[in-house]
Amino acid sequence: MDVAVAGGGSAGVAAAVGAARAGARVLLLERSPYLGGQSTHSCVVAYCGFHSRGNPPTQVVKGVGETVLQKLRALGEKAAYAVSPVTGNASIRFDPEVLKLALDQVMDDAGAAYLLHTSIIGVQVREGTLGLLRCVDDEGEYTVAAKSFVDATGDANLAHMAGCAYRWGDGDGATQLASLSVRIDRIPADCDTTPDTLKKGILAAKAAGIPHLTKEWGLILREPGADYGYCTIPSIQVDALDAKSLTEAERNLRRQARSYVEAFRRFVPGMEHCRMVSSGPGIGLRETRRIVGEETVTYEDVVSCRKRPDSVARGGWSPEVHRGAGVEYTHMEDGSYFDIPLGALRPQGMKNLWCAGRCISCDQTAHASVRVMGTGFATGHAAGVAAALTADGRCDVASVRGELQNQDALI
Ligand SMILES: Cc1cc2nc3c(=O)[nH]c(=O)nc-3n(C[C@H](O)[C@H](O)[C@H](O)COP(=O)(O)OP(=O)(O)OC[C@H]3O[C@@H](n4cnc5c(N)ncnc54)[C@H](O)[C@@H]3O)c2cc1C
Repeated sequence: MDVAVAGGGSAGVAAAVGAARAGARVLLLERSPYLGGQSTHSCVVAYCGFHSRGNPPTQVVKGVGETVLQKLRALGEKAAYAVSPVTGNASIRFDPEVLKLALDQVMDDAGAAYLLHTSIIGVQVREGTLGLLRCVDDEGEYTVAAKSFVDATGDANLAHMAGCAYRWGDGDGATQLASLSVRIDRIPADCDTTPDTLKKGILAAKAAGIPHLTKEWGLILREPGADYGYCTIPSIQVDALDAKSLTEAERNLRRQARSYVEAFRRFVPGMEHCRMVSSGPGIGLRETRRIVGEETVTYEDVVSCRKRPDSVARGGWSPEVHRGAGVEYTHMEDGSYFDIPLGALRPQGMKNLWCAGRCISCDQTAHASVRVMGTGFATGHAAGVAAALTADGRCDVASVRGELQNQDALI
């Protein structure tokens, strides 16, 4: 194997396809029963970061991300951007069930192999070089050897197992809130579910004594005219990734979800008959480990829309921080973006490991921008190309940029 990719979310799929297009033999390993990561496993059903702000917005991510959008369209989805009247940001909605199929086909078209139901549980590393991954499925343990690797686990799990340094949260360790996405149906098409209306209902529900309501402001993501939506308001601070912490978080969020639906039924006009169809399947983690890379993307880079000669990806999403009872937005200049350097994808001290998606090297506020999935496709694509060139013994900034341009990425 030339390249092994850990994790099959937006970044992992982009990495595998980018590496395969660069001529590498690729294997992606994913513990869920489908690709997509949080887009399918946590029903985060809108791509942010494909466009900058502005009216009309400017597309800043193409390459493998654009291939995924085209595949969604071929399967009957609109996959067109919509500008939110509430935030002014552009996002692209999709049906997570269609996305599962689309990602299977995008991988097949590129000749990128993958195994689902596979957990990576360890690594072999010597003097900064990863040799193999220890994997487990229900038949037992096995190893996967490769010349280079991409950590697209969202949580920097591979880098962590390899002993790489990482950052967690702000100076006090506090991260952005994690949330449970809840699919709610029987919402009349003309029902007002804007955040301000929901907030009035949530405050009334709190005053009436409905328990377990934490956040007061947030979105129900709906296609125009649809009678259902995805609500990501149930939220919690997660301090660690061990099973004990995550079990408690899942239990807490389930209680919150039930209370929010009750609050909407009783206190949001028009939602009297709404019902919860499903949740998750799993908790959505906005922020966990961030690697310490050769370069680090900072808040100043993001808000000044810094351009760099060593750029391998563009970030176009204004930082969006979920903490406390609401959401804080910082807006970047309309029509612009910041550059993400190749060095932000490589953990310090590692020779053949590249990171992608929400675990790249950045400070906490920059992370509130780079974590979105459009940007995840872009950093994944870059990491996959870098891994393919590393396996081939010819990885440098100019070669990675050249190959990304050949593959229609915007850099
Ligand atoms: C509630 C919520 C709302 C959000 N809203 C939006 C939004 O509207 N738009 C947007 O663009 N972004 C949004 N985000 C952010 C976005 O969903 C994530 O940051 C993004 O999915 C990260 O992509 P990724 O590929 O880096 O990681 P993930 O999507 O987390 O994928 C990582 C994959 O790696 C796998 N994995 C991890 N460890 C292992 C292992 N040891 N072995 C095998 N597989 C492993 C996981 O199963 C997973 O499939 C939201 C996030 C949350 C939580």
